[in-house]
Amino acid sequence: MHSYSLIAPAKINLYLEIIGNRADGYHELAMILQSIGLADQIDLRSISIDSIRVHCNHPQVPTDKSNLAYRAAELMARQFPEAFAKYGGVEITVNKQIPVAAGLAGGSTNAAAVLVGINLLWKLGLTQSELEELGSTLGSDVPFCVAGGTAIATGRGEQLSPLPSLDNIYVVLGKYRSLEVSTAWAYKTYREQFGNSYIRDSDNLVARANAVHSGTIVKAVLDKDVGGIAQKLHNDLERVVLPAYPQVLQLREVFANKEGVLGTMMSGSGPTVFALFESQQQAELVLLQVREAILDQDLELFVTRTITHGIKVASSV
Ligand code: ATP
Repeated sequence: MHSYSLIAPAKINLYLEIIGNRADGYHELAMILQSIGLADQIDLRSISIDSIRVHCNHPQVPTDKSNLAYRAAELMARQFPEAFAKYGGVEITVNKQIPVAAGLAGGSTNAAAVLVGINLLWKLGLTQSELEELGSTLGSDVPFCVAGGTAIATGRGEQLSPLPSLDNIYVVLGKYRSLEVSTAWAYKTYREQFGNSYIRDSDNLVARANAVHSGTIVKAVLDKDVGGIAQKLHNDLERVVLPAYPQVLQLREVFANKEGVLGTMMSGSGPTVFALFESQQQAELVLLQVREAILDQDLELFVTRTITHGIKVASSV
């Protein structure tokens, strides 16, 4: 095979708690991550020249070395120079469907797809955990994106504990096209505003992050209690993003007041807001109601659902 087409799903955060500062400068986090059906398509092709090329249909996504998909390929070339020399370079085509800088791990899932794809293209035989470890050097959400599904993520977000899959919870996503939130800005602002309430002792930091395993939302996930999950949605970053972006707050309030919405929350560092539903019909109805309530062409709305997988091969030639 010298080309692979991969499906790279987005994620939402059902839970995001900021615990404190780590010695490495990152935040200690406790999260529950969930893959959703909204996905990019990544095509990978071996090319005879020994370079990495990226193409993307989205004007805001860079195609140079700053693209996370490029960086994933570069990492593989550096780690496996013999395979790179044997199989040649890689051409990466990103068909972007996931909104950019949206809190949906769009870049991370592209990087994860490149790791999975090059592993196949170069017949490296790396295991899932080896791919996740490589991914953690590219970004905190990359390891989760490899296998996807439903998982607890602690540490920087790279320490994963899989949870039983939650499939067929319907999700409506709302994102203003022209609104992008920098993840770095959101965490930095949170630290400035709430850093004084962080847990300081490093043992307590890890213990508190691990407490998520026995928390009520995890229990609801284990019980497949969709109503219970929706009641316990939580995201600390809402405390800085919602006051700074009144449109996002308004969108969240409009969702919260609609019948059929089990729960609503901002995903990751935003600005995407999601709402959970028991049926596709309810999700589609609320999408129309939100469209009528907020008459702004800039607002993009999607209906999708929770899925049980991360990167998947769609076809190979
Ligand atoms: P996360 O939820 O992991 O914080 P995000 O969804 O908020 O991610 P991304 O869509 O990954 O954010 O984009 C963040 C920035 O990264 C964008 O400003 C974009 O220019 C850059 N970027 C680099 N590579 C990619 C890629 N392959 N896809 C999307 N954005 C990319």
